[in-house]
Amino acid sequence: MSELRALYQEVLLDHSKHPHNFRAMPDASRSAQGYNPLCGDKVTLYVKLEGDRIVDVSFQGTGCAISTASASILTQVLKGKTREEAEALFTRFHDFVTGHGQPDGKAPELGKLAVFSGVAEFPVRVKCATLAWHTLRSALSGSEEVVTTESAVE
Ligand code: ZN
Repeated sequence: MSELRALYQEVLLDHSKHPHNFRAMPDASRSAQGYNPLCGDKVTLYVKLEGDRIVDVSFQGTGCAISTASASILTQVLKGKTREEAEALFTRFHDFVTGHGQPDGKAPELGKLAVFSGVAEFPVRVKCATLAWHTLRSALSGSEEVVTTESAVE
């Protein structure tokens, strides 16, 4: 295992053990639930919007280390972003974990997401890593349905 990979692993584990913004949000503008039946990951995403801007985002749920770490990092990365910026990050993150792109210096936020670089090698884990992001999209679009990775467009 390379040193970088070992570091990424450590960051992921730290986020999964001590997730950021792990709380319910009673005054959320939007919320959505996501479920990954392949792994058993469940997540509820809460978003507070002011106009077009995400002023707060939090989550609750149970799941594997990757799904929890992904949701934790998502909440850190998306706070303060506009919906459009969130959508752009979703696309880039998705490309990245499915092995179609690399983070670069243009979006420093993607630096945090680099810890998922090993995920592309494990297709099953891609669903764990993207669950929170699919759920966030659903929350932003105002959908009431539970998102499952099996119906999500990959
Ligand atoms: Zn999982």
